[in-house]
Amino acid sequence: RHVKNNGKNELVVYNSNFHNQDKERHIAMSFQSALENGEFYLCYQPKFNLHTGKIDSAEALIRWESPVHGFVSPAKFIPIAEKNGFIFDLTKWILNEACRQMKIWQHDHHLIERIAVNISAPMFLSDRLIEIVKYTLQAHDLNPRHLELEITETSIMQQFDNALNVIDALKKEGVSISLDDFGTGVSSLTYLKMLPIHILKIDKSFIDDVHTSYEDKALVEMIIQLAKLFDLTVIAEGVEKVEQLNVLKELGCDYIQGYFISRPERAEVLNAHYGRREYKS
Ligand code: C2E
Ligand code: MG
Ligand code: MG
Ligand code: MG
Repeated sequence: RHVKNNGKNELVVYNSNFHNQDKERHIAMSFQSALENGEFYLCYQPKFNLHTGKIDSAEALIRWESPVHGFVSPAKFIPIAEKNGFIFDLTKWILNEACRQMKIWQHDHHLIERIAVNISAPMFLSDRLIEIVKYTLQAHDLNPRHLELEITETSIMQQFDNALNVIDALKKEGVSISLDDFGTGVSSLTYLKMLPIHILKIDKSFIDDVHTSYEDKALVEMIIQLAKLFDLTVIAEGVEKVEQLNVLKELGCDYIQGYFISRPERAEVLNAHYGRREYKS
């Protein structure tokens, strides 16, 4: 609610919530046609291996250019898609598109050998996910080791036992699982110990001041040590400066991701910047 002076010295209360709901409904109504009209596309943000000094994987991030709503950020429309159920069709499309691109990269001996796809809670907790993942990998004749799924702590904690079963099944399938936005949720160390995941992604909020704040550096160091204890690969997200990179390297972080290495870009842009890996026959 916003209280505004309408210029006549009367206070008018606007219920901005009403307008937001209207806007959300409008966005939700555009989803299906947006998918059919090809308004969605994927950008890819490289993951840089600090040990090898090379990019070897990337995260797929959805983009939406709507002729009606303009550019809509995924942070805005993904929660709406989760609420109205469109997330199922959208995730199927994203998985298919990411695997299609990964197959091209694999065929071209590109540096990027693994593609990560973000999976929302409703999709992750549905019994259809494993079937969809298997089907999509088969459709593109792609080995599961080329696919990684990013899930958040929060979605795991919603239904822990269910989530555990899904992760187990995906792991058996050969797909890698990473825990996204780590540190922002409420999962306890006990839970982390029980999760058969492979990768831990430290949330950007811990990385922002890692080079200037003693406390944040100590926190990140603890998270990295924790990851090592559980035999997990650890990635820092949102690295924008070389100073942050240097601290993370010193702390033994395995990977970094962020604007310092590259913004999320369309595949063609990445291909122009980063070529093929050396082909060894
Ligand atoms: P996320 O999965 O944690 O992705 C990281 C976000 O941080 C991305 O924003 C990325 O562009 C941004 N980012 C990366 N490096 C930097 C940096 O150095 N500085 C700054 N300021 N930002 C950086 P984006 O693409 O807007 O996505 C936001 C969130 O929306 C994602 O957070 C994810 O939760 C969700 N999302 C994006 N694409 C998808 C998708 O395909 N499926 C699902 N389910 N969710 C998605
Ligand atoms: Mg992510
Ligand atoms: Mg993240
Ligand atoms: Mg994040």
